[in-house]
Amino acid sequence: MSAELVNVAEIFGENVFNDTVMQERLPKKIYKNLKKTIEEGSELDLETADVIAHEMKEWAIEKGATHYTHWFQPLTGVTAEKHDSFISAPLPSGKVLMSFSGKELIKGEPDASSFPSGGLRATFEARGYTAWDCTSPAFVRQDAAGATLCIPTAFCSYKGEALDQKTPLLRSMEAVSKQSLRMLRLFGNTTSKKVTPSVGPEQEYFLVDAQKFRQRKDLIYTGRTLFGAMPPKGQELDDHYFGTIRQRIASFMKDVNEELWKVGVSAKTQHNEVAPAQHELAPIYAEANIAVDHNHLVMQTLKRVACQHGMKCLLHEKPFAGVNGSGKHDNWSLTTDDGINMLEPGKTPHENTQFLMVLTCILKAVNRHADLLRESAADPGNDHRLGANEAPPAIISVFLGEQLEDVLEQLISTGEATHSLKGGKLETGVKTLPDLAKDATDRNRTSPFAFTGNKFEFRMVGARDSVAAPNIVLNTIVAEAFSEACDVLEKSDDFDKAVHDLIKEYATENQKIVFNGDGYSEAWVAEAERRGLPNIKSMVEAIPAMTTDKAVALFEKFSVFTKAELESRAEIQYESYAKAINIEARTMIDMASKQIIPAIMNYTKTLADTIIAVKAAGADSSVQSELLHEVSGLLIETKTALKTLIKVTNEAAEKEEGAVQANFYHTDVFPAMENLRTPVDALEMIVDKEVWPMPSYGDLIFEV
Ligand code: ADP
Ligand code: MG
Repeated sequence: MSAELVNVAEIFGENVFNDTVMQERLPKKIYKNLKKTIEEGSELDLETADVIAHEMKEWAIEKGATHYTHWFQPLTGVTAEKHDSFISAPLPSGKVLMSFSGKELIKGEPDASSFPSGGLRATFEARGYTAWDCTSPAFVRQDAAGATLCIPTAFCSYKGEALDQKTPLLRSMEAVSKQSLRMLRLFGNTTSKKVTPSVGPEQEYFLVDAQKFRQRKDLIYTGRTLFGAMPPKGQELDDHYFGTIRQRIASFMKDVNEELWKVGVSAKTQHNEVAPAQHELAPIYAEANIAVDHNHLVMQTLKRVACQHGMKCLLHEKPFAGVNGSGKHDNWSLTTDDGINMLEPGKTPHENTQFLMVLTCILKAVNRHADLLRESAADPGNDHRLGANEAPPAIISVFLGEQLEDVLEQLISTGEATHSLKGGKLETGVKTLPDLAKDATDRNRTSPFAFTGNKFEFRMVGARDSVAAPNIVLNTIVAEAFSEACDVLEKSDDFDKAVHDLIKEYATENQKIVFNGDGYSEAWVAEAERRGLPNIKSMVEAIPAMTTDKAVALFEKFSVFTKAELESRAEIQYESYAKAINIEARTMIDMASKQIIPAIMNYTKTLADTIIAVKAAGADSSVQSELLHEVSGLLIETKTALKTLIKVTNEAAEKEEGAVQANFYHTDVFPAMENLRTPVDALEMIVDKEVWPMPSYGDLIFEV
């Protein structure tokens, strides 16, 4: 059967209230007011909002929408929405009108008491507000609920504290824009009015068969397998990465792409990933807040479409032990409103000096706040990836490539860089500055923070996480470094000399964060320790970075977070870690007690019965006896480990909530889970497949 063909250009953005639709439908004056708000951040008056709301509603109704929702990102890790229909109170005639006011568009008031606030909001203060983010376009989503007008919004408490991811992200975007403009002006730019972080998040995911998924309580409750022995084949043949996409998956990807294109997500790249059943989807990069919203849409669409295809999409960072887990590469650069990428080495000497200044500022930012970047990628699932032999290490370092590293070394050692290592030069025309190659370097897949031509790729982020947190940190730490550089440069009499000196100073002071070698090697761990770089191995150890004096000073200086907001977020992180591990531990207890141990008891009975029968027949039953002993031995180990896990999980519940409890889950409950898994996985390898109570790894990842 051939697939139905689509015209991408026709369907792209058809369900988005985008600029074209607004220009067509809004009165000129209203359109101009809105544009001004979007571009310059001026406030929107209610009259304008009323007109926009009316047109938005009419447009949405034409698309079949019956409801609207403020679509926001509370600190649960997923998005939230409350649907209201457009209908107004019935008229005397018994009919209803469809209405949507400016007030309803720009402000919502969901009950905030059930969303995590980390103590920011006492439970009796239930009020929370959602506010329209007009910089991210509204769209109509079509699903089983019909069509719904979704309005991207920020979510704040009664006192204006951020309870979501979007608010601080928008604040950080303003901060980096302001400081970037200062920098650009110093280098003679008079045209750019705004600088926006561009973000392209590559999304990895697994697909498994829905029927098999439903037979695994661990997948249902926790998103990852808590037990499971490796099949005879894993990913060692490297035959899955970029392999031909099978028909079932291809048909799924086709539907995902179409759904995404309709809501304006520029799904671009798709391929099989390293592990069997693992895939990737990358959109074309967009402005940071739109990219974050779109990444949520990508994750939701992957899940929804998978269900329609009889599959389940796993976004967990480590659904299967023994094969690669899933991450999300956060590609980041800074782009002006008139199209200049500040991370592009550039064609003119002027811009190359500027590039080296920008680059060394970023080195300084990453070196100073490595702990914060690391924390921004921390989540319970990512603890299984970072530092394991598949994902970047938990140590933050920057990969620049041989050529740029050489340039920095020349600057550091002699104060002047006179040459570049390779051909393909880009002449700077400035004597003291080196020539740069356009495609500076080979790729490095083991670096957590790699320069890739005209952007940085932050490769630590987990597959399930919002990319908001890493981008909030990146924007703010770079804003700080720019601001400090500008403080110096704006005061200097000899600008060229001041820039030169500052580049050299930053390169020298932050050289230790640059590492071009193999980030997966043991040698790097030792070397990083020698350099004094932090190696923060787990989420609970990463969280304190959010509330250090250094972090508070940084975020308060640029009005991204208050101290109270930071403290509340740290609290939420501890809570979410404790909850995640608690659910995993209880799921293991449930599976071991109700499924695995009973299955093995049955199996041992079969073995014992067989032994009696074999003996009665006068034959040699030594093989059966040996197997029975082996199984019984592992069963005892399983039962002992189960008892311990039950004990520590109960103890954990009694601990003081917050850091203490989260740390206990990390140091006591988590190892007890591993200790239960070991004998169970050994049993799976020797017990009759027919009696094993759930699909195996082989069934799950090779038979999708
Ligand atoms: P890779 O080969 O690293 O897997 P992909 O093509 O899968 O690359 O993804 C790269 C991502 O980086 C895409 O989302 C792409 O749009 C994005 N990207 C490209 N240029 C920039 C840039 N200047 N700033 C931010 N993101 C960018
Ligand atoms: Mg890719």
